[in-house]
Amino acid sequence: MKGSDVPVLKDLVLVGGGHAHVTVLKKFAMRPIPGVRVTLVCRDLQAPYSGMLPGYIAGHYTYDEAHIDLVPLCRFAGARFFHDEITGLDTANKKLICHGRPDLAYDLLSINAGSAPDVAAVPGAAEQVTPVKPIDGFVRRWHKLCDRLSAGPGRARVGIVGAGAGGVELALAVQYRLQQLLAGKQPDNAVPEFHLFTDADDILVTHNRRVRARFRRVLAERNVRVHTGHKVVEVRPGALQCANGASFALDEILWVTMARAQSWPAQAGLDVDEQGFIKVRDTLESVSHPDVFAAGDIAHVVNHPRPKSGVFAVRQGAPLASNLRRKLLGRSLQPFTPQKEFLSLISTGNQYAVAARAGWALEGRWVWRWKDWIDRRFMRKYNHLPAMSEEQTQAIPRGLADEEALKELSALAMRCGGCGAKVGATTLENALAGLDPAARDDVLIGLNEPDDAAVVSVPAGKLMVHTVDAFRSFIDDPYIFGQVAANHALSDLYAMGATPQTALAIVTVPYAPERKVTDLLAQLMQGALNALNEAGAALVGGHTSEGGELSLGFSVNGLIDKNKILQKSGLRPGDCILLTKPIGTGTLFAADMRHQAKGHWIASALACMLQSNRAAAECLFAHDAHACTDVTGFGLLGHLVEMIKPSRVDVEINLGSIPLLPGAEQTVRAGIFSSLQPQNLRLRRAVHNLETASKDKRYPLIFDPQTSGGLLAGVAEQRARACVAELHKLGYARTAIIGRVLPESDRVEPVSLRP
Ligand SMILES: Cc1cc2nc3c(=O)[nH]c(=O)nc-3n(C[C@H](O)[C@H](O)[C@H](O)COP(=O)(O)OP(=O)(O)OC[C@H]3O[C@@H](n4cnc5c(N)ncnc54)[C@H](O)[C@@H]3O)c2cc1C
Repeated sequence: MKGSDVPVLKDLVLVGGGHAHVTVLKKFAMRPIPGVRVTLVCRDLQAPYSGMLPGYIAGHYTYDEAHIDLVPLCRFAGARFFHDEITGLDTANKKLICHGRPDLAYDLLSINAGSAPDVAAVPGAAEQVTPVKPIDGFVRRWHKLCDRLSAGPGRARVGIVGAGAGGVELALAVQYRLQQLLAGKQPDNAVPEFHLFTDADDILVTHNRRVRARFRRVLAERNVRVHTGHKVVEVRPGALQCANGASFALDEILWVTMARAQSWPAQAGLDVDEQGFIKVRDTLESVSHPDVFAAGDIAHVVNHPRPKSGVFAVRQGAPLASNLRRKLLGRSLQPFTPQKEFLSLISTGNQYAVAARAGWALEGRWVWRWKDWIDRRFMRKYNHLPAMSEEQTQAIPRGLADEEALKELSALAMRCGGCGAKVGATTLENALAGLDPAARDDVLIGLNEPDDAAVVSVPAGKLMVHTVDAFRSFIDDPYIFGQVAANHALSDLYAMGATPQTALAIVTVPYAPERKVTDLLAQLMQGALNALNEAGAALVGGHTSEGGELSLGFSVNGLIDKNKILQKSGLRPGDCILLTKPIGTGTLFAADMRHQAKGHWIASALACMLQSNRAAAECLFAHDAHACTDVTGFGLLGHLVEMIKPSRVDVEINLGSIPLLPGAEQTVRAGIFSSLQPQNLRLRRAVHNLETASKDKRYPLIFDPQTSGGLLAGVAEQRARACVAELHKLGYARTAIIGRVLPESDRVEPVSLRP
């Protein structure tokens, strides 16, 4: 993908898509710093907005309305989005330890990863209760509860532990939603019961007495039983035990107690408070580590401690962005004092709310409407992104690079072409140091030897199959790109029935200082090796050069038996045409570039690209497929035509049966297509009933170019259904019969499209 013309000099890594970081992203989108690469690592694709969470639970908002979609926001900001969870931090080597990808290097780190209720403090809680955070886990459990209660008359006794603003709002939202859901469905003796527990002697202890009185009244009116002075000391299956001896039988226990931080910041040696929250100065810089910043719940501002609330996280966004910028540019930081008093708008679940500030409180439906207006206005800033001008300042700002880095930069500008464009041996050695390519006995000389080329033997009775594929990166995550590129290249072998043997990598990395190139190459090749090793293909060599943008390809070899070669030309009249993966990657990534694709559309497209075609090919082979190919750049129709012509047949395709990736229909409807679409579209001359077919909304997708697409195969009709069932079992859940093969007609156009 084409990025800034300025090489990456510094990496700013943001951990967690919390309320402060979304502002940082927006600010960096408006005013990027040339030479600074921003990366957001978040375990959520969509970040929940705390203000709308109770409204979402109560059923007033959809999931999308109450969440910020981080993928298009990052795309808008020119930032990389890594969908992962941070589990550790190595401050000495400036690396983050990720759950599902290689370590991630940073120059400057900012943490806005929130907090979660402390379930470890009470025996049995970790196993028995549903903590309100992480939100995605809570939401899953909440939907299950709704489904269970809607499905049949079961008793529901719901306990909510924690009676701060979060607990009270949640109790009322949950109660409201269940009442709506079950209205008229439950016999009287099965009406859900609600219990709210707190060890304090009142609810909402951090709010004024007027707010407390109003909520005591509302809770009583709504039959929520409030148990003040009840400290929960143990949770057993279906029961909760309090310190005063009382115990309660409950079917669901929701946990909204005192928050705790995750353990990794403390384990990394950052100075933290008793709950593990990172101690920061007024500038939001860690008191112990000047290259680490923190904001939101996870930060403890030493001079101005405040309650854990989304309001403060939101307010810290702008000063955090400004101080991160200043830090990167070597300027002095500016202190920020959070306000002491703030407006609380607490909802009661039924589109009614209480407003409070200092000593006063007001309530009414109008308060809810006001809150709704504020929340929606906030969300619009992040979910409705303006078009950005392509013009950006490309000069490296003063302060970003020191003397040495500037020297390295001017050397970069003078880089040679030809062999001089090769990446240096030490860089390559460092990048490949931790990699462990698959070992094979038939590789006589491979990556571990210093020789000029690999030497590989071909076992007796086998033939060698060669293929090559390369493309420039379509995503800004080198680790995922490495896996997709390797998978894509291997697919050609699988489509022919071959078993992968070896691979040579062809890499172009953008010009950058040595340590950035090393890091990029390590991530890229680790990803590629995941796919190659899984396929049993040994990486035996490659060529790496510097250029304008990142690209990767593989020349792969496979082995095959002479009498088991599966070709495109074997389609027979009567065969069913099977497609093993959904299509739509071209339009979806075109939309992603324009930040018009939803995060979960891109995530499912990537998951599909990462799925190997290996097991599918074996299954097709076992069901005596007559012909096979993989669907890539020419699109479904292009690859189908490649099969039809040499097979001397016609085909009929049911447009409605073609499996599509989530979002593909929407992006095509929005007129967003891959740049290759117009060329692929020329093949419409192969379609016999073009006039009617082109009116179908799925029609444009048969021209959509695929990356790491599925297999397209012809299987005899009597075996096709069993083959599809087996493919579903193997994890190719969207495999479908999309058409059938007909005898060759005398028409010039061999393809008929049915709606
Ligand atoms: C029911 C309920 C209602 C609430 N209502 C309000 C309200 O109306 N107003 C208000 O101001 N506050 C409210 N709060 C409090 C509010 O939710 C928190 O204070 C606020 O969400 C904190 O924001 P944050 O930016 O620090 O982090 P969060 O909003 O919690 O965001 C953290 C992000 O980091 C990600 N993350 C976490 N750990 C990792 C990791 N290790 N690696 C990668 N990513 C990670 C998470 O997935 C998440 O996207 C409510 C709380 C609850 C429980």
